[in-house]
Amino acid sequence: MRGRKPPKPAAPAAAPPTSAGQNYRDLALKMYPHVCGRCGRTFAHSSLHELTVHHRNHNHDDNPADGSNWELLCLYCHDNEHQRQVERQKTVAPRTTGVATGQPFAGLKDLLKK
Ligand SMILES: [Zn+2]
Ligand SMILES: [Zn+2]
Repeated sequence: MRGRKPPKPAAPAAAPPTSAGQNYRDLALKMYPHVCGRCGRTFAHSSLHELTVHHRNHNHDDNPADGSNWELLCLYCHDNEHQRQVERQKTVAPRTTGVATGQPFAGLKDLLKK
């Protein structure tokens, strides 16, 4: 071993995620018709702020240029969508709390013996 490490390659030449993250809403609004993907409500330009860009895989850093991870949802449907995701995570998450696995009265016997 000579301790000579090759220089680390520079960061990948892809566009920094911040720029895409800031523009994804604009891009998605240009790419898709201004219709909620759930309830089908259409949005005029004046109410466009009620239309939000949802990330299908719930990863806000995942912004492919073809828009495949985006979905336009109205505020309500977007809320619902995330609520459902929260519920899903609740049920899938493993139980980490170890309460109520022992015998609740195990110690009581000893107390009564005394
Ligand atoms: Zn909707
Ligand atoms: Zn979302």
